[in-house]
Amino acid sequence: MNLIGKHLIAGEWIGAADQFSSDPAQGEAHMFAAGTVDLVDRAVQAAEGAFPSYSSTTSQERATFLNAIADEIDCRADALAEIGSQETGLPDTRLRGETGRTSGQLRMFAAHILDGTYLDQRHDKAMPDRKPLPRSDLRMIQRPIGPIAVFGASNFPLAFSTAGGDTASALAAGCPVVVRGHHAHPGTAEIVAVAVHAAIVSCGIHAGVFSLIQGGDLEVGQALVQHPLIKAVGFTGSFRGGRALFDLCAQRAEPIPFFGELGSINPVFLLPEACAARGAEIGTGWAGSLMMGAGQFCTNPGVVVMIDGPSADTFRDAAVTALQQGPEQTTLTTGIADAYFDGRDRVAAADGTDTLVSFKRTKSRCVTPSVFETTGAQWLKSDALAHEVFGPLGIIVRVADMDEMLSVARDLEGQLTCTLQMDGGDTPAAKSLMPILERKSGRILANGFPTGVEVSDAMVHGGPYPASTNFGATSVGTMAIRRFLRPVCYQDLPSELLPTV
Ligand code: NAP
Repeated sequence: MNLIGKHLIAGEWIGAADQFSSDPAQGEAHMFAAGTVDLVDRAVQAAEGAFPSYSSTTSQERATFLNAIADEIDCRADALAEIGSQETGLPDTRLRGETGRTSGQLRMFAAHILDGTYLDQRHDKAMPDRKPLPRSDLRMIQRPIGPIAVFGASNFPLAFSTAGGDTASALAAGCPVVVRGHHAHPGTAEIVAVAVHAAIVSCGIHAGVFSLIQGGDLEVGQALVQHPLIKAVGFTGSFRGGRALFDLCAQRAEPIPFFGELGSINPVFLLPEACAARGAEIGTGWAGSLMMGAGQFCTNPGVVVMIDGPSADTFRDAAVTALQQGPEQTTLTTGIADAYFDGRDRVAAADGTDTLVSFKRTKSRCVTPSVFETTGAQWLKSDALAHEVFGPLGIIVRVADMDEMLSVARDLEGQLTCTLQMDGGDTPAAKSLMPILERKSGRILANGFPTGVEVSDAMVHGGPYPASTNFGATSVGTMAIRRFLRPVCYQDLPSELLPTV
């Protein structure tokens, strides 16, 4: 495939002396220009230059632009599937599904801004005769905040990357975007950037509204979040990387919000009646969810908590049987496979942990499932078990009774999701868990598995720290637009000075 191999900065394809090579799972590698701090400044200055005109576009103009990007992405679906599966090792069907999700998100935001409710407009009419004091005319409208930095995620080369949910919601809000492409899929990022650029040209939008900077070392991302003209950051990735960038945002002369989605172990609480009635079925279902996409989902259900006893054995045996047959799967990067095997060793070495499924590593960029079992008492004592291991790794926690299950729930850090597997007779137990889980989690499910995040109005993909760095926000669904807006109150302003919406 012919690729440009350059950065897209405000409508211009720009090369650089330093280059880096892609590292595909299969197929040929390609060379790409590597990002620099100077290029970051150029892209951000262009984004600021675009802000006055772009932030004053109407919702209709932005909706037309978002729909045009979606169309341009859809017509590149074949190229995206080809390069995307080469770069990431993900199957063609997954890449095509993710392309549809990406264009679908853009169209969803187009429809959302046209309906206007996202502006949350409020109007307190003037009361000139009010005693003892008259009231002014007050209007509140949500306004775009300025240029946004977006970091492409390794595990969603399309839906959480160049024109993924962060970019779509920022553009919908009226904010220009500078994307730092993820080094795992630069060719995929480039084709999406070509699509965005085509939509910019066809819609007559200011070219500074979108830039893509590829590669470069960590100082490129650091310069981006520290640039004084950047007003917020969207990020999905590791706890370590996200926390480092979050701290930089907080230390700026003008601190800015860092919307980081950092990780989660997504506990499943298997309640007694459900375990007795459906233990084997739920065990097989859990194994399938754990292995999906080589476990490279932030919503991977890494822990199942249940009361010890024969029903727990039934669950465990079914899960182990399914996981022992789990295929060797290619990971998105060699680094992710390395981190997975380090995490597996950390869990295996924890006191009181039994290994139920553990395979040997045969290739540098492949993983197989790993499953461990421990007791509630050990879980509560151990620091090693409660951290995300990115990949198909599961821990079964057998607690002594409901009280210990509640203690395990209370001990959790913030989560993207918590799941209840329950039957009718489990309702009192579920009710006792709910007040705890609501404080821990962005989304609570019953009788399902958390992998597969619906893109919709009610979805919350976020949660208390460390699931995310901002528990009031979601990175999936229409509410994601709120991250890039802020309320402005207009007091007694003549209508010609009010913003166009
Ligand atoms: P990552 O290492 O956090 O990298 C994400 C992005 O942030 C990359 O563009 C990276 O730049 C940049 N970055 C990271 N640390 C930085 C720093 N200190 N300063 C400036 N920029 C920084 O995540 P990843 O590459 O996607 O995957 C690595 C691990 O992250 C996985 O093994 C997994 O544990 C975790 N992960 C979790 C989720 C989730 O949803 N929970 C999703 C993906 C990954 P470079 O490209 O230069 O490295």
